[in-house]
Amino acid sequence: MLTENILCKQFDVSKPVFDYVEKIEQVVKKQYFEKIEQTREYNQYKVINAMQEHKLDYTNFYWNTGYGYDDPGREKAEKIFASVFHTEDALVRPSIASGTHALYLTLSSLLGFGDEVIAISGRPYDTMLTVLGEEGNEPCNLKEAGVIYKEIPLYNNDIDWEGTLKEISLKTKLLMIQRSTGYSFRPALSLEKIKNAIEQIRNVYPDILIMVDNCYGEFIGKIEPSDIGADVVVGSLIKNPGGGIALSGGYVVGKKAVIDRIANRLTAPGVGREIGLTYGTTRNTLQGLFFAPHIVSEALKGAVLFGELFSSLGFEVTPSQDDSRSDIIQAIKFNNEDMVVKVCEAIQAASPVDAHVSPVPWDMPGYTNKVIMASGAFVSGSSIELSADAPIRPPYIVYIQGGLFYDHAKLGAMICLQKLMEYEDIKDKITTNL
Ligand SMILES: *Cc1c(COP(=O)(O)O)cnc(C)c1O
Repeated sequence: MLTENILCKQFDVSKPVFDYVEKIEQVVKKQYFEKIEQTREYNQYKVINAMQEHKLDYTNFYWNTGYGYDDPGREKAEKIFASVFHTEDALVRPSIASGTHALYLTLSSLLGFGDEVIAISGRPYDTMLTVLGEEGNEPCNLKEAGVIYKEIPLYNNDIDWEGTLKEISLKTKLLMIQRSTGYSFRPALSLEKIKNAIEQIRNVYPDILIMVDNCYGEFIGKIEPSDIGADVVVGSLIKNPGGGIALSGGYVVGKKAVIDRIANRLTAPGVGREIGLTYGTTRNTLQGLFFAPHIVSEALKGAVLFGELFSSLGFEVTPSQDDSRSDIIQAIKFNNEDMVVKVCEAIQAASPVDAHVSPVPWDMPGYTNKVIMASGAFVSGSSIELSADAPIRPPYIVYIQGGLFYDHAKLGAMICLQKLMEYEDIKDKITTNL
């Protein structure tokens, strides 16, 4: 049976859509896949090496009860993460419930009454605004704790380090950098740009703490923010570093003194990192890390396919194919709510799980606008699996990410185009551009 037949007969992809995607695939394969594969290979060896260095063995997958003292798997997972990120220390826990939780934990551990935090990569991710107290008035936000917040917009899609130097005062304790696009429309910050900013700032303020929100950035390149001077790097295990296998959790890696504080906040001063059950999740966490370099490369291949397809159809995409990628997200601007909904429906319809349901916009906790999210994932909410989300507000941008396997992203892309064939101009382009 031909692949074309199964796509056209079982998934109702029309012949013109099939041919169009196949044609664009040839373009991206030639131009982008080799570099993605080289990065994957390097990172795969880096991960295996870290596991061997710490003598990971099968008994490490057993787990404890009660306080969770001496959980050898938990301790090894943390050492392995520290090795992969080249940091002194790490926390990797199922009890860190999400990326936002990991970021809040970090900020609330490092900042006290009267301390100032400056976001130097512009407006942070929506859920962080609630954490900071910039949106809503949730109890226990950082504003309530007396933390002062400032923000410096990006300048030409780069960190305005000169502007940052002018803003830093005696009160400034921590600078936060968000690597990924979030719900904005700019390429993710490259590590070259982040490195340059950190160097310039450190020349003047050698001791200022720098945190990088690394969500969606892990294993995109051969180095991580911790390799270029960040004191603490934070992310979610149901994104890149969980490889689609981790069931939940977050990580924080960085300097020992910093991680010690965060561990005390995670549990309690004194017991810190020494307690905390893993409930048998260590195997998934580490197998996920083992899968992660490969899975991220698959997601990246999917992202370049989506990018090329939609820019060929005349949509504005970010990153553009000329930008260097620093996260797995492909943002596409539709300027049209109906198209946003159709694309999200298509991604849902391509899923292995929950393909028969339709996503609808809803008021998601922590977000300011209604959001539509398509995700038919094995791990609920996992956005390293093929997923799409869009805040329902102009200019109607859809953020597509993930795909544990490139083939899945390609199927999603075909179903997207199939749905958009309802638009005459798109149909013309797909049928005549062959
Ligand atoms: C996903 C994400 C977060 C929050 O992570 P959750 O796990 O969804 O709470 C924070 N920052 C960025 C840039 C993200 O992409």
